[in-house]
Amino acid sequence: MELVTVKQKRFADYLPFLDPPVREEIEELAARLQGKKVAMINATTFGGGVAEKLHSLVPLIKDLGIHLDWWVFEGSLEFYQVTKVLHNRLQGQEGSMTPQEVEIFDQYNRANAATMANWDYDLVVVHDPQPAALIHYRQDLGRTKWIWRCHIDTSTPNEECWDFICQYIRQYDATIFTMPDFVKEGSRLNRLTFITPSIDPLSRKNILLDPEEARKIVARFGVDTNRPLITQVSRFDPWKDPLGVIEAYKIVKKDFPSVQLALVGSMATDDPEGWDYLYYTLRRAGEDYDIKVVTNFNGISDLEVNAFQTASEILLQKSLREGFGLTVAEGLWKGTPVIGGKVGGIKLQIEDGVNGYLVETVEECADRVLNLLRNPSLLHDFAAAGKEKVRRHFLITINVLNYLRLFADLMPEGC
Ligand code: UDP
Repeated sequence: MELVTVKQKRFADYLPFLDPPVREEIEELAARLQGKKVAMINATTFGGGVAEKLHSLVPLIKDLGIHLDWWVFEGSLEFYQVTKVLHNRLQGQEGSMTPQEVEIFDQYNRANAATMANWDYDLVVVHDPQPAALIHYRQDLGRTKWIWRCHIDTSTPNEECWDFICQYIRQYDATIFTMPDFVKEGSRLNRLTFITPSIDPLSRKNILLDPEEARKIVARFGVDTNRPLITQVSRFDPWKDPLGVIEAYKIVKKDFPSVQLALVGSMATDDPEGWDYLYYTLRRAGEDYDIKVVTNFNGISDLEVNAFQTASEILLQKSLREGFGLTVAEGLWKGTPVIGGKVGGIKLQIEDGVNGYLVETVEECADRVLNLLRNPSLLHDFAAAGKEKVRRHFLITINVLNYLRLFADLMPEGC
């Protein structure tokens, strides 16, 4: 496994976002955890929500004086093909793991676990299914506490794959899910904890951008800033439903011809399916030049994502399954209304009719977009409500608190 270098962040810079009791509790827990050694392990340093969260969470916890290393699991194309299939099935896709897939999954977990032979951490936090079997092949001295953090929507999993992953996650001392809906009853998991993910208000992606600057940035990608823009920021993935987004846009376009659509996506290193889905999306967009499909390969980075989220009239996150959907919190934080699929973690963030809309079909999505475009005063009300929701519940500082609470709980004083 490879150690990831993170940019430095100062907890003191986040104090303006904290209510005093939260600050006091964080400082107290951090003092109790001084000298403890923690490792976090996931499958990629770039693309998708987990990497996004760790780039903020890891440096902030480190700045509180806790020794924290972020390790990235070493896979290969064949491994990520298997784990993407496993991910899809845990989100409900049909099918069975073949013996060969099981063997590839185990083989990489065994090989990565072998590199942990001299590890001496108090706590190891493993993110998502890819490295979940590390615990089974662990070679530590037995004093380490292990936590598994699930970031995906396991509300209606393929039963066989749920049982497969459960044989590993039952071995953990604690498990974290985003919401109770994601845990099947009777799963017999240790110290089940619920923590919602969060966004970093001081990251390049979320610092408040001047709207004029945001418009200039999106104009570089061919957007006409005198016409309304709707955007979905997401990996190209069937669960994010980019094809459904294009269908909804086509319906809107008939009644509101000036509208433009941007599909902004990054290609994650652990998501080999992304390329296929990007091509399906491009084909569906066809020769409509009011649809912009842009990625990290043609200049999209954090600032550009921020600009699209700031300059759009409406953001979509029309997911069919969603672990949380950081893009929803990111959009709401910028005061842009979000229309999201009525699934998983999106339901925790969007209050239907208050800060956005929850939708179940392409037609409903189109209808809600048209309603917002025709009633600009609603955009304003939704914006204020959305921002406040994120400030109270989904900023990184609350996430730090929740992790420290669990760490302290697993390592009582004196241990
Ligand atoms: N993202 C990005 N560039 C893109 C597309 C997505 O940086 O072109 C980021 C997005 O801003 C968010 C993360 O990737 O921070 C996606 O997280 P989310 O929880 O929405 O979905 P996931 O990819 O984890 O399923």
